[in-house]
Amino acid sequence: MNSFTFQNPTKIVFGSGTVSQLGKLTEAYGKSILLVYGSGSIKKTGLYDEVMAQLKSIDAKVVELSGIEPNPRLTSVNRGIELCRSEKVDLVLAVGGGSVLDAAKAIAAGALYDGDVWDFMMQKAVIRDALPIGTILTLSATGSEMNGNAVISNWETKQKRAFGSIHAYPRFSILDPTLTFSVPRDQTVNGVVDIMSHVFEQYFTLTPNAPLQERLCESILLTVIENAEIAMENPQNYEARANLMLCGTLALNGGLISVGTQNDWASHGIEHEISAIYDIPHGAGLSIVFPNWMKYVYQERIDRFTQYAERVWGIERGNKTDEELALAGIEATRAFFTRIGAPATLAYYNIGRDNLDTMAKEAVLFGPLGNFKKLNEADVRQILELSL
Ligand code: NAP
Ligand code: FE
Repeated sequence: MNSFTFQNPTKIVFGSGTVSQLGKLTEAYGKSILLVYGSGSIKKTGLYDEVMAQLKSIDAKVVELSGIEPNPRLTSVNRGIELCRSEKVDLVLAVGGGSVLDAAKAIAAGALYDGDVWDFMMQKAVIRDALPIGTILTLSATGSEMNGNAVISNWETKQKRAFGSIHAYPRFSILDPTLTFSVPRDQTVNGVVDIMSHVFEQYFTLTPNAPLQERLCESILLTVIENAEIAMENPQNYEARANLMLCGTLALNGGLISVGTQNDWASHGIEHEISAIYDIPHGAGLSIVFPNWMKYVYQERIDRFTQYAERVWGIERGNKTDEELALAGIEATRAFFTRIGAPATLAYYNIGRDNLDTMAKEAVLFGPLGNFKKLNEADVRQILELSL
């Protein structure tokens, strides 16, 4: 195990009815609140009214920024930054899925930065401070509720890029599984794939001897697999929704499950290039890419893939070779994604070869991708080819 530092400052308030604690949670940060949300799901479910009632109870001045897009855009982030400045905002409150939360983080960091917020995504500047952020999560997927990452799309340059900063961790996140009852089937599936992918990025490592971290990863994968179809069949099954929510949060909360090991993140890098141009859902892109990444790299460390096949998918070794066992685990991954209705090919979105070169080139803009196998432009191009 490698040496590590771990810090996670986010307070998690988990459970049914916890939105009732919003007023108390926000009180400490001041009265001027920027409420950031998406294109209306929170109004349909009644959550918006509940949030407003809570904020009214503490006499907050609420400024609204609605219409945050899935794959949130820089233009929306810049609108939020202007509002923070003109309205002297004390707290940025995000109510929604990962896109809303990510936008809120970029707004909170950009509001205290003199330059262009896009600098953070282009690694031209480091975040030194941010306005306090609070979140109410409505979709289990990204882990954004308990990490310092944000992924923003620049539609002008067709780039989708991320930053990570300790200053962008939410101060608090309200996680009420009942708020995810209304998540439609396809978004539930996208979330499941994203959660599993976050674990894969950390589980497939060359770092030897991390048995606890491996089992933490495996137990999240098993729990997601056990609960995904229950939540899809019965969207109001509280336990299934709660299990998925906790899995999503633990899968990517600053790396608790993989401390002391090297992570990969190549598949996320490749997916970002696809959604940067084609604006497809992140989880769907990962469903297409990840099994192909696995096939491309498994020989770098086959014992990790045989362990994955045996422990996560329960595939018996029998008289299989390592190769056969590893491939059976990868096939089981694809079969599961297909069973829950996640796409397997770029063709599903009518994406052909047109932009493969651009995507491969952009993916390695800051150097080779990943660590399990360091991928150069040609490698990325091949994985994209496999994904057609
Ligand atoms: P999302 O883009 O936030 O939301 C997808 C859709 O689900 C939206 O149309 C939203 O509608 C709807 N929705 C959300 N909650 C709902 C509910 N309770 N009921 C009904 N509809 C609901 O999805 P996401 O998967 O959470 O976030 C994806 C983004 O996060 C991508 O940009 C991805 O790259 C990024 N990401 C970030 C991290 C990170 O660590 N920060 C990690 C992985 C991915 P409304 O707009 O109407 O609310
Ligand atoms: Fe992700």
